[in-house]
Amino acid sequence: MKTSEWLKKYNIYLKKSLGQNFLSTQEYAKKIVQKAGITNNDTVIEIGPGAGTLTETLAQTGANVYAFEIDERLKPLLEERFKDYNNVHIQFIDFLKADLSNFDKPKYVANIPYYITSPILEKIFMETPDFQLATLMVQKEYGDRMIATSGKNYSPLSIFVQFFCTVEKIITVPPHAFIPNPKVDSVVIKLTPKDNIPNIDKKKFFKFVHIAFSQRRKNIKNNLKQLFGENTDQILEKCGIDPKTRPENISIEKFIELFNNV
Ligand code: SAM
Repeated sequence: MKTSEWLKKYNIYLKKSLGQNFLSTQEYAKKIVQKAGITNNDTVIEIGPGAGTLTETLAQTGANVYAFEIDERLKPLLEERFKDYNNVHIQFIDFLKADLSNFDKPKYVANIPYYITSPILEKIFMETPDFQLATLMVQKEYGDRMIATSGKNYSPLSIFVQFFCTVEKIITVPPHAFIPNPKVDSVVIKLTPKDNIPNIDKKKFFKFVHIAFSQRRKNIKNNLKQLFGENTDQILEKCGIDPKTRPENISIEKFIELFNNV
């Protein structure tokens, strides 16, 4: 049954405020699950199953699927759709408040609610540091920022994501794949955790990066002056960074070196 038929059957209208753009058929769900390489040995966490289109494709692999959905109106629909699957476990709670402590090496596969992309990433990295991979559909603009290594899309989000993971864009999904059609393209991003995450105070480092980008059109010296005052030139020189460089042209490795020097 198509998503629109499920929604009609249960008289559910979609809420923009919950980021509800549902996949209209299984076409892209199948591509996502195939690219994620899910098998029946996996434990998969899905954020926001919606009407269950991606969930069903995941369930068909035989993996154990744990889904978190905030919208309780979807409960009767999802209960009917998955009544014959004993490998699908759905909790009707806010994912951001979910207890993930019992998951062992989970894989995330989800078409996430765009309005909480950053808090979701933060929760994945901080609360399940042993996750194996995260294959996430995000708004294209977000995906571009997650992948950028310099230039106009390079931002604190790029550094946050690339600090923990290698990032690949694996699929572009056009607006017509969803109901309702969003105004922008979406992309599926595959995040694979890095083996050697630098052993530094992460909270302080990301705060430092935010300050370094506080006025992105200004150079790094101007942004860091608020932290280091007169010593700014000297600190930048020590790391081999020209004070006139814009933050968008400084690599993540250089930011880590800079942070370690202060
Ligand atoms: N997975 C479905 C699909 O691909 O068709 C739906 C994806 S839709 C973009 C995002 C889903 O996340 C919606 O079902 C929405 O209700 C749910 N959602 C929004 N905020 C949430 C939260 N904080 N915790 C869990 N689910 C949430």
